[in-house]
Amino acid sequence: MTSSRNDASSRPYDVTTELVTSGRDTLAQRGFVNPPVVRGSTVLYTTAEDLHQNRGEFHYGRHGTPTTQALQQALMALEGPNCAGVGLAPSGVAAITTALLAVVKTGDHLLVIDSAYRPTRAFCEGMLKRLGVETTYFDPLIGAGIAGLFKPNTRAVLVEAPGSQSFEMPDIPAIAAVAHERGALVLDDNTWATPFYHRSLDQGVDISIQAATKYIGGHSDIMFGTISANAKAWPLVTESIRLLGVCCGPDDVFLALRGLRTLAVRLNHHQQSGLEMARWLASRPEVLRVLHPGLESDPGHAIWKRDFTGASGLFSIVLRPAPAKAVDAFLDSLKLFGMGYSWGGFESLVVPFDCTSYRTATKWIPGGPTLRFHIGLESTEDLKADLDAAFAVMKSAQ
Ligand SMILES: *Cc1c(COP(=O)(O)O)cnc(C)c1O
Repeated sequence: MTSSRNDASSRPYDVTTELVTSGRDTLAQRGFVNPPVVRGSTVLYTTAEDLHQNRGEFHYGRHGTPTTQALQQALMALEGPNCAGVGLAPSGVAAITTALLAVVKTGDHLLVIDSAYRPTRAFCEGMLKRLGVETTYFDPLIGAGIAGLFKPNTRAVLVEAPGSQSFEMPDIPAIAAVAHERGALVLDDNTWATPFYHRSLDQGVDISIQAATKYIGGHSDIMFGTISANAKAWPLVTESIRLLGVCCGPDDVFLALRGLRTLAVRLNHHQQSGLEMARWLASRPEVLRVLHPGLESDPGHAIWKRDFTGASGLFSIVLRPAPAKAVDAFLDSLKLFGMGYSWGGFESLVVPFDCTSYRTATKWIPGGPTLRFHIGLESTEDLKADLDAAFAVMKSAQ
């Protein structure tokens, strides 16, 4: 499912206005604010001549519908003027794998950030290795030093900012400058900030990927992915989507668009509450460190401030050393923080994590048990009280 740029780049509006207005064709929607959920495979041609000429706006369900087009136009407006097209995928992982298959071929070399989403690494070590593509992982803080890892056959660099468990903040413009000098493409998993807080296509990234399962959907009710590309990379992305047969169910497309309309207000709330909770946690005696690039004390803060216009609600903490059973007692006693994977919905979440087993370019030595929090839209006073009570339980379990 693909769609090319309409006239969004020439529109005079702020991105918050674009989020509300883009992709809305009120006339075609017969007055309704939202597009219909178009279910369809076959698109009928009016005449034999039309069919021979392949005339008409739509040709086949897999290649796009009025519903997918509305979402793609709104996403293009969000990505900004360097976006040449947005592809839709049935999950964030599908978006990553489709984008990687778009850019590499047998015999190529790929550079991947050591803090990448773990299933991204699994794809590189599994299918890409089988197809004869070699992957080297690099230190997230390598910056322009990445030049030393390039080989004559290095075709692409995949970054993620920040890492979604450990929150290292790579210098994307520096990495992109080196990659482009050597003719390689840059892919960015931009799920944490979304293009609303990080316009990666304006910072040297060629392909910007999102697990729209997270903040775009925003309600923990869909699996979805997006692949946005600049003019250089878009032909590769659109070919990969077409050849792989990647397409999405119409209800999910509609829910992604519905989520996108309120992205600005939700993210702003996640940001404010996330920073408030991160600061509160940093002041707790049980907490050794908070990993959140929006905090002034964070090693990635300067880059975050330079390259991002905001932070989302996801961050991690390192607890002072405590027995595993005490940490489990803490987790078990939380009432408002659900324990589970994914994030980006309206609800607060917590998961313990450990990067030790899969890092290869860097060593993960946090200094204590590590927990990742997603701060939802609940009252921060209620969230603090919940954590406060759980810390008391943890203490008595030690
Ligand atoms: C969740 C996530 C993905 C994968 O998205 P799914 O929709 O679960 O396949 C990719 N990257 C990051 C950073 C994620 O958090």
